[in-house]
Amino acid sequence: MLKQKVALITGSTSGIGLATAHVLAAQGINLVLHGLMSSDEGEVLAKKFAEQYDINVLFDNADLRNVESIEHFIQRAVERMGSIDILVNNAGIQHTESAENFPLDKWNAIIAINLSAAFHAIQYALPSMKNRGWGRIINVASVHGLVGSVNKSAYCAAKHGLVGLTKVLALECAEQGITVNAICPGWVDTPLINEQISTLAQQQGVDFKQAKYNLVTAKQPLPEMMAPEQIGQFILFLCSDSARSITGSALPMDGAWTAQ
Ligand code: NAD
Repeated sequence: MLKQKVALITGSTSGIGLATAHVLAAQGINLVLHGLMSSDEGEVLAKKFAEQYDINVLFDNADLRNVESIEHFIQRAVERMGSIDILVNNAGIQHTESAENFPLDKWNAIIAINLSAAFHAIQYALPSMKNRGWGRIINVASVHGLVGSVNKSAYCAAKHGLVGLTKVLALECAEQGITVNAICPGWVDTPLINEQISTLAQQQGVDFKQAKYNLVTAKQPLPEMMAPEQIGQFILFLCSDSARSITGSALPMDGAWTAQ
């Protein structure tokens, strides 16, 4: 059912996005890969995916802080690939600091990349989905779209906003064959959290591995980080026909973090 559909995954040069790209490509889904790497590196990555999975692949390195870049990126993707059937708003950044001392440039970048970029991408991609009467929009939010943590004001504001955006879009698209959901993961083993682990290792005087364990278990009853592929498999399920009634949901995948 999903073979030959086109998925655009923002931030798919690393972590959860890259793992999701592999999971979707293995189903024969054509891909628009995206992230902050040079065009040359991106072309190499795209070629590797195309050869490994026998699919069409386009790469774009649009900076999601810039609205015009997002518009150009999505329009180019629709023109070159024929449609966008699945949109995974995944790109994101993190910065931790008390709200009182939070640097304005970091606040603006987190809101732009983690929240506003998803809104713009949805706006530009929706006509393509509506034309075909089918679509899947998956916003990679976070457990921090549901609860707060100290020193994460911008991240929590953006992720809570993304959950709200998800609900509204689900209502607006309910009769169009388009589902819109947010995934809310706990700790996932990707480069995004390395800085937090290193800081904790320094503060506690322990090695990286121990700090990683301490970071996870401070919040998450299930004492292990998720693999990015697990998020990819969840996204694949949300794309399936079996998931057609799941829409407007903020779905935790968090080792019981929010069960407390
Ligand atoms: P990552 O750092 O491995 O990947 C981030 C991706 O976003 C990269 O491809 C990067 O190039 C892209 N990106 C960053 N800034 C960009 C910009 N200005 N323009 C365009 N692309 C940009 O991170 P990850 O852990 O895979 O995170 C993916 C998503 O999952 C994020 O939205 C993050 O908030 C969310 N998330 C992560 C965790 C976790 O524990 N790792 C938990 C919950 C939610």
